[in-house]
Formats: sequence, C-alpha cells, structure tokens
Amino acid sequence: MTDPAPGLETISTSCACGWTTTGDVDSVVEATADHAIRIHNMPATREQIIERAVRVPAAPTEPGEGAA
Ligand SMILES: [Zn+2]
Repeated sequence: MTDPAPGLETISTSCACGWTTTGDVDSVVEATADHAIRIHNMPATREQIIERAVRVPAAPTEPGEGAA
C-alpha cells in the first residue's frame, strides 16, 4: 500500500471527457467511480482512482520557511 493518509489529503481527478473533480480522497473516489460507471459504463476501483489522481497541496500558506 502506498497510501499515506487516506481521507486527509486533497486530490483531483480528470476524465478523458473533460470532467474533473477535486476534494478529499473519499469524496473524489466516490464521485469519480460514480461518473465512470454512469457516464462511461466503466467500473473503477478505489485503487485505480487514487492511482490516477493528482495530489493538490492543501495549505498554501505555511509559515516557517524564511519567516521571522
Ligand atoms: Zn468522463
């Protein structure tokens, strides 16, 4: 397993049809699986979805680097 913290990070997926979704892992997995089966009649597993997902940086304002 190469899944460090399921549910705690923000990821984004995009479909070949142009559909995209962004959110926490569970939301994106659910939305992507729903899209895949309903729109394309292609079942997708959680592993497949996470594998193709792109991680989105959660907090852009992180103090400590060069500050103070
Ligand atoms: Zn699609």
